[in-house]
Amino acid sequence: MTDYQEKQYVRYLSVVIPVYNEEENIDELFSRLKKTLDEKKYNWEVVFINDGSSDQTKDILVRLHNQNSEVKIIEFNRNYGQHSAVFAGFNEVEGEVVVVLDADLQNPPEEIPILINKLEEGYDVVSGLRENRQDSWFRKIPSFFMAKIISFATGVKMKDYGTMLRAYKREIIENVKNCQEISSYIPALANLFAKKVTEINVKHSSRSGGKSKYSFLKLLKLNFDFMTGFSALPIHFVSIMGLFVSFLGLGFGAFLGLRRLFLGDLPGEGGVFTLFAVLFVFMGIQIFSLGLIGEYIGRIYSEVRRRPRYFIKHKFIHR
Ligand code: UDP
Ligand code: MG
Repeated sequence: MTDYQEKQYVRYLSVVIPVYNEEENIDELFSRLKKTLDEKKYNWEVVFINDGSSDQTKDILVRLHNQNSEVKIIEFNRNYGQHSAVFAGFNEVEGEVVVVLDADLQNPPEEIPILINKLEEGYDVVSGLRENRQDSWFRKIPSFFMAKIISFATGVKMKDYGTMLRAYKREIIENVKNCQEISSYIPALANLFAKKVTEINVKHSSRSGGKSKYSFLKLLKLNFDFMTGFSALPIHFVSIMGLFVSFLGLGFGAFLGLRRLFLGDLPGEGGVFTLFAVLFVFMGIQIFSLGLIGEYIGRIYSEVRRRPRYFIKHKFIHR
């Protein structure tokens, strides 16, 4: 714990936890969190964002808030998604160091001091690298490829971009907060502002209670948010593909023409089928490109609307 008073930060550590229907997990999460952080004698707080839970989550959180001065709650009026919730949490943090954590105990709270120690060595962001990730292959395989793509697009190489368990210097969070785009992927965004970034191994458990809150569609949206939000890479790729295929088509056409010239018409004209094949390739590419362009335009539309990311119904904060 260095000179945070001089930097006018009220606290040393703020933990941000988005929660969506996690009634089975919150009590255990909080008691383990409190034990860990008190032992380390950090001056800490935790910001829970209740992302429109429909179970007992809110009551449990309010009880924790009433019993503990470290607990803040931001209560959304409905479900806006994990990343919007984390953004809302960022607006409430007072600490010099900000740690983001999942509520389902997949990221053990006991790992926080390890991240913080690393951060103190002079990093801007320390990211958890899930050794032995306890998720299905259905989640792990796409994650592997996404990490490669994100590393390439942001220029910051990391093995694990999927985990939210990360420790950030407050300056990075302030920069992230200034980003106005609505659909965004926080770990990638933060890396745009960080100079020194590292990953360290953290434990990973399977979800303690309840089910994953990510459906296939929600995951797809997250990955699309990332791809269109951080680079024009996909659109470039499509353009190059389009060019390549056009040249191929031209070459093929020239070949057929020359063959006809020198060998004359072949018996039993099978050329119609070739034509169809060529046509389908072109059509496929056209449709794909259109879809992708639509994706960008859709995003432009949602950005120009400038809708608020979320609506806060109530804040529970000790003053
Ligand atoms: N979460 C949220 N809003 C959502 C979905 C998830 O606040 O719409 C929270 C959830 O309560 C958990 C964290 O985000 O604390 C990660 O969600 P989950 O464990 O379902 O994701 P997974 O581990 O399957 O990637
Ligand atoms: Mg989880």
